[in-house]
Amino acid sequence: KYILAIESSCDDTSAAVLCNAKVLSNVVATQEIHKQYGGVVPELASRAHQQNIVPVVHQALAKANIDKKQLSAIAFTRGPGLMGSLLVGTSFAKSLALGLDIPLIEVNHMEAHILAHFITDENGTSPSFPFLGMTISGGHTQIVKVSDHFTMEVLGETLDDAVGEAFDKSAKLMGLPYPGGPLVDKYAKLGNPYAYDFPKPKVDGLNFSFSGLKTSILYFLQRETQKNPNFVAENINDICASVQHTILEILMEKLNIAVEQTGIKEVAIGGGVAANSGIRARLKEAEDTLGWKTYIPKFEYCTDNAAMIGIVGYLKFEKGQFTDQRVAAKARYAIGS
Ligand code: ATP
Ligand code: FE
Repeated sequence: KYILAIESSCDDTSAAVLCNAKVLSNVVATQEIHKQYGGVVPELASRAHQQNIVPVVHQALAKANIDKKQLSAIAFTRGPGLMGSLLVGTSFAKSLALGLDIPLIEVNHMEAHILAHFITDENGTSPSFPFLGMTISGGHTQIVKVSDHFTMEVLGETLDDAVGEAFDKSAKLMGLPYPGGPLVDKYAKLGNPYAYDFPKPKVDGLNFSFSGLKTSILYFLQRETQKNPNFVAENINDICASVQHTILEILMEKLNIAVEQTGIKEVAIGGGVAANSGIRARLKEAEDTLGWKTYIPKFEYCTDNAAMIGIVGYLKFEKGQFTDQRVAAKARYAIGS
């Protein structure tokens, strides 16, 4: 089976072709336009999707060496995401499926981040059921109990900022360019994680909160730069290491609670923040000391991409879970709904 998948939920236009669970191509056009604004501008995002979608789909088909007449189905991101962005991918997918007279498969973007672990061109193994999925990205922070491919339950999520936002906003306060997460990671490697102490939020259960951390970093930097205007430049490594350490403590603390509550030690991470070298080290440590089994997909399947939409497309195709032309994009779309 050849499945064409389309992702357009935020600021990446992506198309992929899968042959069953194997990715033949995964093309991503990242929208550079948002950089100058320090965050995604929704209206600009939907316009860029309109410009990108046709060339990106063409490239994905060409790279996979597949003619569109060979396609068995089209999978697309129905939500959650920015409405204008979702509309471009949804409308395109619907029209192409109608034109080719092939089935249409709708995909929940957050379920796709988790099911990306089942793409089979990885060297690693897929998690076994039940497992805990933690999606950590620029837009989301969730811990999900996954009982099988289509039975998921959100155990906790952020009440305000996502963890990627916490990285990016902290970086912005230090004067680093957007998105600052990778830079914080880079400088953190050279610094002392215990140099500065930032308070951890008090949130019960498995929910997260990151907006307080951002505020305390703001006040901290204001206070210190009043004493020494070069404070940030002189201590960037230690500040980044301490900020990252605090964020990782928050993530690991919640993961630990989730493991204890459920008794599940299979832990699968996804989302752009999974690229962070600190979280990777902490998970490795948990494997050695706590007996967890941890999984992180290839980086290109962690950030927004159509391959993960394609794997859900394949799994749904096998179950005959198709949708029809009446389907509409859904900006808010909870996992398991
Ligand atoms: P979503 O996937 O929720 O729609 P998004 O597209 O913004 O949101 P991703 O592309 O998955 O999210 O991830 C981008 C985020 O990951 C950014 O916030 C970025 O700073 C962060 N990030 C990427 N690499 C690292 C790293 N090495 N350390 C920390 N954060 C990182
Ligand atoms: Fe995403």
